[in-house]
Amino acid sequence: MADYRPYDVVIVGAGPAGLALGSLLRPEYRVLVLERRALPIRSSPIGESLPGAAAVLLQRLNLMAAFRDAGHRERGAAVSVWDNDKPFWRDAIQDPAGPGWYLDRREFEQMLRRRAQDAGVTLGEGCKQVDIRHRQGQWLLDTTLGSFRAPVLVDATGRSGHLGRRLGLRRYADDPLLCLYSFLDQVAESQDATMRIQADARGWWYTVPLPHGQRVLAYHMDIDDPLSRQLLRRPDALLARAREHALLAEVLEGLAPARVRGRPAGTSLLEVDQLPKVGSGFLAIGDALLAFDPLASQGLFHSLASAASAAKAIESGLHQSLGAYQQEMQAVSQRYLWHLKASYQGPRRFSQEAFWQRRQ
Ligand SMILES: Cc1cc2nc3c(=O)[nH]c(=O)nc-3n(C[C@H](O)[C@H](O)[C@H](O)COP(=O)(O)OP(=O)(O)OC[C@H]3O[C@@H](n4cnc5c(N)ncnc54)[C@H](O)[C@@H]3O)c2cc1C
Repeated sequence: MADYRPYDVVIVGAGPAGLALGSLLRPEYRVLVLERRALPIRSSPIGESLPGAAAVLLQRLNLMAAFRDAGHRERGAAVSVWDNDKPFWRDAIQDPAGPGWYLDRREFEQMLRRRAQDAGVTLGEGCKQVDIRHRQGQWLLDTTLGSFRAPVLVDATGRSGHLGRRLGLRRYADDPLLCLYSFLDQVAESQDATMRIQADARGWWYTVPLPHGQRVLAYHMDIDDPLSRQLLRRPDALLARAREHALLAEVLEGLAPARVRGRPAGTSLLEVDQLPKVGSGFLAIGDALLAFDPLASQGLFHSLASAASAAKAIESGLHQSLGAYQQEMQAVSQRYLWHLKASYQGPRRFSQEAFWQRRQ
């Protein structure tokens, strides 16, 4: 073990969850965050809507002032054509936690990274390979950046749940949902601040205006739908298809097609009750624990909230508090799965279509 540099906590994955956890742990903890990519990230990830309830978590991270100065956009009303063909408006003002924001996601992650560094977290970036073993109460990590050990190891690798999978933990992930998305340049900064959600026979769309003159357009469909491969290659066809819906056409007028990217987006859930089976001191947070369907718009909130709960559990001693952490996360998962099922049952007019049948 002498060859392994000692830490109190090693977190693998420097996304919002991993960086938030590193920042929240007490300063006397020696914390290492290992990240596969070189940071700061260059292209913006998808996932930009942050609910107003996240303000409490940003305050806990001591980030509210920096967050307010970062140029994120306040969210407007959500307008959906979902249960039937009539647009349904839900005004942001009705949310007691406040309207929330459309994020400049790259800036958001840079802010979290600066916060973690200010908190004394060691960041190991460009870490391509991590091998893990558990010996005598310590997690031993052999990586491309060196060898490290710690009594607590946290999986914050996102939807892949890389560490959990390596340790043989099962994931429930049987929704073959694919998100196709484009970042479109707006000719002029749009005054429209609505989030627009539209169901159709093959899936569902959303579009929101982003800060700095961009708009995201996303289409969620089955990964094995042959149309997805066509749309991935044909930005013009994606935009044309979106414009068939009046709700989307209104805000896509005059915008030019842009590269289409694809991301798996279905629910992916670690079976939380297995956590103690891999050895003491192992936790998963953020998407590595529960990756939400984008319909929920809850992924970032959950990343920050699960990081806060994990920090509390680690500081109170995991042997005592792991059970409470598991219970909390199980309750979150159950509530989420219940709401998700109810949401996908909404568009009854498509109930004969393969996409909707799979999810009802
Ligand atoms: C299409 C789509 C739309 C979404 N829209 C929204 C939205 O509107 N609102 C919202 O709140 N959320 C949204 N989300 C979800 C949100 O983006 C995620 O919940 C959030 O990014 C999760 O943060 P995380 O830190 O857990 O994981 P990630 O952001 O995925 O970060 C994981 C990090 O771990 C690193 N990593 C992975 N494997 C390894 C490894 N082996 N070694 C080292 N590092 C590794 C990755 O490089 C990455 O930096 C959306 C997601 C999708 C797919």
